[in-house]
Amino acid sequence: MKLIIANWKLNPTTLNEAIALVSGLAHLMKVEEFERIVILPPFIFLEELVKRFKHFKWGAQNVFWEKIGAYTGEVSLPMLKGVGAEWVLVGHSERRLIFGETDEDINKKMNTALEAGFNVIVAVGELQKDDHSDEVIKSFKKSITGADKSKLEKLIVAYEPVWAISTTPNAKPDNPARSNQIIGELKHTAFKMFGEDSKKIKFLYGGSVNAENASKFLSEPYIDGALVGGASLKSDEFYEIIKKS
Ligand code: PEP
Repeated sequence: MKLIIANWKLNPTTLNEAIALVSGLAHLMKVEEFERIVILPPFIFLEELVKRFKHFKWGAQNVFWEKIGAYTGEVSLPMLKGVGAEWVLVGHSERRLIFGETDEDINKKMNTALEAGFNVIVAVGELQKDDHSDEVIKSFKKSITGADKSKLEKLIVAYEPVWAISTTPNAKPDNPARSNQIIGELKHTAFKMFGEDSKKIKFLYGGSVNAENASKFLSEPYIDGALVGGASLKSDEFYEIIKKS
C-alpha cells in the first residue's frame, strides 16, 4: 500500500470548489483507502476541510519555522496544529525557485516541523534532466541534515525532478526506472547519514503522475508513493491513481 499525496498548489479559487473536489473524491473511495491519502490544500481552506472531511489526512504546502512575531505573511506550526493539520510539505521546487527558499531554509523548516510532531514531506529535485544525481544528493543531504533519528518514521522525501513537473514548459514524466534508481541512491545516502533508522523514511516520486502512468511508478521497488499536483485537481483522475497504488 503506497502513500499518495495531493498538492493542490494555488487551486481552487473558492472554498465551495474545494469542498466539491473533496466530496467527489470521498464518494469514490473505499474506507480502507483513506488512511494513506494526504491532501495539501491552500492554507485558507484547511480549517473547514479538516472539520468536514475527517477521514483524510491533511497538511499545508509550506510553513515558517518561527512560532510567533513580526513575520508578515507567514503561517506557523502552532497555527497549523490548531486547525488540525498533521502534515506539512517543505522545499517544493516552486518555493525554491519562485520564492527563493534555500536548502538551509528548508532544513530549518524540516527540523522544527519534525520536532513539533508533524509528518514532514521534503521535496528535492534537479532543474535540468541529467544522468548524474550529484545535484539532488547534495540538496537532499543539506535539506534533511540534523533530522531527529527517533522521528524518521514521520519524514517523507519527495523526489521531484523539476523538468518533469507538469507546469514546467515541455515537461515529461521521468522514466520510472530512472526515478527508482535515483530514489535508491537517496535511500543509500540516508542510510549513510542515519543508519538503520533511515529505513523508516518514505520516498515518493512526483512529476506529471497521472492515471495512465501511476502504476508504472508505483510498481517500482524503491518508490513508496507519489506526490501528485495537476492530476489531484480532478476527483476521478486522482481516484484512478489511488486505485493503482
Ligand atoms: C508537484 O508540483 O508537486 C507535482 C508533482 O506536480 P505535477 O503532478 O502537476 O507534475
